[in-house]
Formats: sequence, C-alpha cells, structure tokens
Amino acid sequence: MSNSQETYLHHDRYSRQIRFQPLGREGHECLAAGKVLLVGVGALGTVTAEILARAGVGFLRLVDRDFVDLSNLQRQSLFDERDAREGTPKAIAARNRLRQINSEISIESIVADVTPRNVVEFSRDVDLILDGTDNFEIRFLLNDLAVREGKPWIYTGCLGSDGQMLVVHPGSTPCLRCLMPLGPPGTIDTCDTAGVLGPIVYTMAAWQAMEAIKILSHNDHAVAAGLHVVSLWNHRTRVLPLDRLRDENKCPTCFARRFEWLEGNRFSETIRLCGRKSIQINPGDSQQRDLAKLAERIAAAGLSIQCNPYYVRFVIDPQRITVFADGRAIIEGTDDTTLARALYTRFVGT
Ligand SMILES: [Zn+2]
Repeated sequence: MSNSQETYLHHDRYSRQIRFQPLGREGHECLAAGKVLLVGVGALGTVTAEILARAGVGFLRLVDRDFVDLSNLQRQSLFDERDAREGTPKAIAARNRLRQINSEISIESIVADVTPRNVVEFSRDVDLILDGTDNFEIRFLLNDLAVREGKPWIYTGCLGSDGQMLVVHPGSTPCLRCLMPLGPPGTIDTCDTAGVLGPIVYTMAAWQAMEAIKILSHNDHAVAAGLHVVSLWNHRTRVLPLDRLRDENKCPTCFARRFEWLEGNRFSETIRLCGRKSIQINPGDSQQRDLAKLAERIAAAGLSIQCNPYYVRFVIDPQRITVFADGRAIIEGTDDTTLARALYTRFVGT
C-alpha cells in the first residue's frame, strides 16, 4: 500500500467526526492527544471505553478489580461468552477487544482495586477521570482526588432503568459532595439486588462519553451543567441545577478542602482474619444499617438469608457473608481481599 493510500485511510477513520463542526480537525487532534483514566470497566465502563476508543481518544487507562461473569453479558458491551467461560479479568478482556476495534490508540489495563494508596498514581498523567464504578466509596475517593488535583471528572451511575450524571469541573462547578454533603448514602440498592437494564447503561455511557469528548476537545462551554437524571422506563429526563449547593452546604471537599477519602479517614478497611480464611470489611462511615431492609433486598436477589437483630447472613457459594448493624461484614471462605470487597459492594452497597 502506498503512503498516500495509508494517509487517506487514516483520515477516513475519523472523517465523520471531523466533519462535525464544533469538533473539526482541531478538536479531533485534541482527542488524539487526550488521556483518560476510566475506573471500573463493567457496564458503564465498557460502553464508554468503546465510544472513546472509536473516537480516537489517544490514551485510555482501564482499572477494574473484577472478572467477566455470564451475568455481565446482558449489558457489558466488550465481553463475550468466551471471556465469561474463562473468567478473564475485565480490564484485560476490555483491552483485548478495544485493540481489535482501534489499534492506533494506547490502552493500558490494570487489574486492581482502586484505593487511597494507588489512585494518585493511576491519575497522575491523565486529563480526565471517568466513573465506571457501581460504588459510592470509590466515587467519593475520585471526587476528593479530582478536586484536590483540579482535574475534571464525571460521576455517572445506573440502577434499574434510571441513571444520573454530574460533570465536575473543580473550582467552577459543584462536586459530588456538594450534592451529598454527608458522603455515601450507606447501604443502597445495587445492580445485584435491584437489577439493571441494558438501555440505561448505553444511555448514560453515551452521555458520559459525549461530555468527555467536549472536555478533551476544550469545548468546555458546551459541557452539561447540573445533575442529569434519566428514567428510561418512565421516559423522563430532568436536569437539577446545583449552582447554589456549593456555598449553601459549605462543601467540606471543594469549599473547605478536606479530602477524607483520599486521606483514608473515611475509606473502608479490609483485613484478613488470621487462620480463618475470612476477610473483615469495616466501612469508613459510622452509619447504622437498617438490617431489615438489607435482608429484604438480599432476599429479593434470590439468596437465602438468616436474619436476627444483630446481623444478616447469606451465602454466595462458596462464600458466606455476615453483615452487622454498623456495616461491618465478615466474608468467610476466601482470603482474597479484592473478591471480598467486590462482594460487599455488590450486595451491601457502600
Ligand atoms: Zn463540593
């Protein structure tokens, strides 16, 4: 193939996006130079990563602690039955597929649990941080980090047929803690207890990727302001303006610049219990859990439970999980802290 043909093909790949005037060739060059950290490569993360890889974003760092499971395939776009059969780590399976989609960009995949200890390193050289998690503790950690470092980040979440998105431009727009001054909402419904439909994942990932493209191409004036709330089942979309929240709540993070998750004060503690093949997770908050509600949700997920005034216990073979009223949990049957944290997030919340 001659050089001129190669050049032609190279430019043809992105020609439709370059033709979109607010982006143009200049905007596309910015995307090609853009560096993104994507935390969580599950439902939201795979779809967002696929859109950004196809758009030619130059560098994607994918971090995920989990493995592909058959129940992921209903909504996680980059995975197939072979990944589920082989239990491939999601960050690796996603990278392999993305490389087939676009071999011109750089993709780095990291199989790890994001914690206050490693998150600074993961985000050091990126322009933008994206949320592909299902976990408020990690979102508050990312929020602390983004505000402290002055980097934009996008909070995105899905549950059932509903989704939310908030673009945080530290210093000029409200942050996640402006919205939730007390921190994570405690035990909450998760995709494992309340379910999630594919279309809301694709919708929210598309919104997140759209805002990412605007930020990376320096079209900040076009970035969505406020909290975007979507309910696809009820076909409703709302935008809640949050302009005053930052000052009204005297936000501990972006107003008082206290970074409690990043400093580890409110981040959960995970320890191996000696000689028991068990892990204990101590949440970083001091909230009491409503055990009756937790039991109800876990029962709704089809798991058999044992419940008394002190704890809720359930089995996800081969692990047995006991959750106490202060949110502390013991996960028996494993000494893998990453697995234990993943199970806690999936069934108890954050
Ligand atoms: Zn704030």
